Amino acid sequence: MRKGQKKLSASLEALKKAEAICESNGLKLTKLRKQVLNLIWKKPGYVKAYDLLDELKKVDPSAKPPTVYRTLDFLMENGLIHKIQSVNAFIGCPHPDEHNECYFLICDRCQKIEECCSTKINNVVSSTSKNNNFTPSKVTFEIAGTCQNCLN
Ligand SMILES: [Zn+2]
Ligand SMILES: [Zn+2]
Repeated sequence: MRKGQKKLSASLEALKKAEAICESNGLKLTKLRKQVLNLIWKKPGYVKAYDLLDELKKVDPSAKPPTVYRTLDFLMENGLIHKIQSVNAFIGCPHPDEHNECYFLICDRCQKIEECCSTKINNVVSSTSKNNNFTPSKVTFEIAGTCQNCLN
């Protein structure tokens, strides 16, 4: 994820990519979907579903949890956001159109999450699974710790 001052352009860029991806999949990036994606990108760290609901209620008082969850599901299915299981929160994906198995570095202090890709990790996962006669369907790598900014 990018630094604070670049946040606005990053969220605009993410919206543009999201629109292109939805269009090529014949899907619609509705106003609500756009709003939720924008809220996720605007926050410097990860976002919890109930925080999103609070923010949405400011613009639409009738917003309800199922609406938010459906929207989050849509964004996840299209690779536009990721759910971070260990903190039960969401982040925007910086490269939804060039996706690979990724791993996440989660800062305990500032709640920033960096998404990284590694073919080495992918290879280890597939060879380990193969050796155990196991077929992985979903791989989650989340590494908690302290980011460079917070260490300095
Ligand atoms: Zn991603
Ligand atoms: Zn940090």
